[in-house]
Amino acid sequence: MFEMTQVTKAYRTDLLETHALREFSLKVDKGEFVAVTGPSGSGKTTFLNVAGLLETFDSGSYRLDDVDVSKLDDDARSKVRNHKIGFIFQSFNLIPQLTVLENIALPLFYLGWSTEKSAAHAAELAETVGLSQRLRHRPTELSGGQQQRVAIARALANDPKIILADEPTGNLDTSTGDQIMALLCDLNRQGKTIIMVTHEPSIALHAKRRIHMLDGHIERIEDDA
Ligand code: ADP
Repeated sequence: MFEMTQVTKAYRTDLLETHALREFSLKVDKGEFVAVTGPSGSGKTTFLNVAGLLETFDSGSYRLDDVDVSKLDDDARSKVRNHKIGFIFQSFNLIPQLTVLENIALPLFYLGWSTEKSAAHAAELAETVGLSQRLRHRPTELSGGQQQRVAIARALANDPKIILADEPTGNLDTSTGDQIMALLCDLNRQGKTIIMVTHEPSIALHAKRRIHMLDGHIERIEDDA
């Protein structure tokens, strides 16, 4: 389903070479909920960017849903991203000019869905995250927790194979963060595969497997199973 093998990535400037990922290997099965955690600078964001096909890597291999994505050109990578991956970000990344419904429907626009069909599907998704009463609101008219719910609904729109979440509760107070984690746990129980990056141990505990990174590789793994 998701398999990185000995992935290496370095950032280079004239003076400096930083090894952000060092022979990083991780296999995630369908339906798993995995947290990737570790101190600042350990490579969590780099991992997520590589996993989300937002950045390339230097060596190793990465297979997503049985496709060797390391061999794809830019267009093919965007296609895989649009079809197979849902993103949730710390800062929600909603488009302020668009309504809740339009934000949720945006990935469907890129998949070529008709306006009518995508609006209907977006309304269903808004209901699953408890936002049916807010379809015509704009992001600035919503609380942080509500904005993250919109982002989660948007991440679900393309029915992704995998959801990648980057510090999804990082901008929320504890109780709102707990509600967002409950929603992610619900989605996982319904079968969604989730990989979440967080530096907060209490948030990582929601995942059934926790990957601790240090200096670009896996330092240790905790598994509840
Ligand atoms: P984390 O998300 O765990 O804080 P990052 O993946 O952001 O870690 O960073 C891993 C290492 O790579 C750090 O040493 C960081 O300084 C370096 N790094 C990250 N992005 C860049 C970049 N665009 N250019 C140069 N170095 C980078």
